[in-house]
Amino acid sequence: MDIEKLQQFLQDNNLPKFRLGQIQKAIFADGVSSFGEITTLSKDLREKMENEMRLLSFDVEKVLVANDGQSIKALLKLHSGDLIETVLISPKPGVWSACISCQVGCAMGCRFCATGKMGFKRDLTAEEITDQILFWRQYLKKNFKSFQNSKFEIQNYNVGNIVYMGMGEPFNNWENVAESIKVLTDEKLFGFGSRSISVSTSGIADGIERMATEFPQVNLAISLHFASDEKRDRFMPVNKKDNLENLRQALKKYFQITTRKVFLEYIMLDGINDTALDAKLLADFIYSIGNTHLLHMNLIRYNMTSEDLKPSSKTRTQLFKQELEKHSINATIRKSLGEEIEAACGQLAGKN
Ligand code: SAH
Ligand code: SF4
Repeated sequence: MDIEKLQQFLQDNNLPKFRLGQIQKAIFADGVSSFGEITTLSKDLREKMENEMRLLSFDVEKVLVANDGQSIKALLKLHSGDLIETVLISPKPGVWSACISCQVGCAMGCRFCATGKMGFKRDLTAEEITDQILFWRQYLKKNFKSFQNSKFEIQNYNVGNIVYMGMGEPFNNWENVAESIKVLTDEKLFGFGSRSISVSTSGIADGIERMATEFPQVNLAISLHFASDEKRDRFMPVNKKDNLENLRQALKKYFQITTRKVFLEYIMLDGINDTALDAKLLADFIYSIGNTHLLHMNLIRYNMTSEDLKPSSKTRTQLFKQELEKHSINATIRKSLGEEIEAACGQLAGKN
């Protein structure tokens, strides 16, 4: 929803100021799916709004619900014709996390990532980013009743957490991502707490430092995936610009400014980064940063996007976790949600 356009509309139609708050509440807090549902407004005004404005900056092409009801994926067609995707995941009953995109495609070219294979198309505007959350609010509200009577344990229709882990690299579109965070945390608009938002980066060092100063309360996740420069270079071109040493320095500076926990993401690739030696290198890297109590390792199942890479088995993943524990590093194995609807980064939009 374009807020400036809404303000302009109210001005052009000589509407009193209190209307703005009323309309914003209906759209952002209540999740109405059309202006027609804002019954506190006159019928004429509602019709005029329907004709002159749009609630969302895209059309919904497809919504796929996984059989277990724990993940829902939407393919969205922007007015430019580009496709993006957003995923809603329920890690536990009653809790919804929305995974949102910030670019069409991505320039970083990580070899295991479907979005990376698409290349970079364009940045999303702040409105296109925040509208993904608006869409999920509307979707959950509309489907709440039918879900309640089904096997899905849906107890509320509010998105609880937001993660910038869809398509795109947030620090390559920082201006719009920063603006979107401001809109999402604006109490008069979405009203999310900073701590319920997480930004994930492939490891752009100056972006990490910028996050610390601009949004010290927003969670940071770093897609580390490899603890040797030789391997990281091979799979993540970002490492040629910002290698592990740069990342280490950036994280040290981050912890000088904020003492929020940082999540280190590590996708488990069979025979590539899941050996005892990899675990040792990873532990060494973590200790070299310092503040180990603020670093949390997430071991993530790789969703296959390429024939030459395979996910590590459950056993190998467990062994890797034990190896880390030998070095006194704790890690969480992240359940892979929504593989059947191809809920991993960029997999659906890339097919169309
Ligand atoms: N560009 C940012 C955020 C989007 S990617 C980043 O790279 O962090 C979100 C997460 O999905 C990253 O940790 C990324 O490495 C991971 N990812 C990409 N492709 C994946 C795949 N095929 N299986 C599992 N995780 C994947
Ligand atoms: Fe881009 Fe992230 Fe995919 Fe790498 S993993 S290509 S940075 S979206």
